[in-house]
Amino acid sequence: MTAQPLEARCDHCKQTRPLFLYEPDHDFHLTGITCEWCERDKQPLLCTRCWSTEKQRENNDPGDPTDNAMAAFFVRACENNARIAAREDAERAVLEGIAKATEQAERNG
Ligand SMILES: [Zn+2]
Ligand SMILES: [Zn+2]
Repeated sequence: MTAQPLEARCDHCKQTRPLFLYEPDHDFHLTGITCEWCERDKQPLLCTRCWSTEKQRENNDPGDPTDNAMAAFFVRACENNARIAAREDAERAVLEGIAKATEQAERNG
């Protein structure tokens, strides 16, 4: 199912063109600061050209250093948690294997 793009006046260049809603793809801000893209009540409807320009502008925005540092910290914490969870799973599998083998041996013996 492909939605037909809406043809209307672009919020940037004011030309009548097929428009796409601009959705910033950066994450929410952990430090509670807001950037230009978050501050908007409503994201603009842009033609493909303005959309790409806007995307480039967003990608080139360095962001707030504190916010970036905190985001990096959380990413690392998540990776650590995933590693711990994987190890616990492996240990559980081993213990279950031992329990099953013991049970079987008892039944056979
Ligand atoms: Zn435009
Ligand atoms: Zn933002």
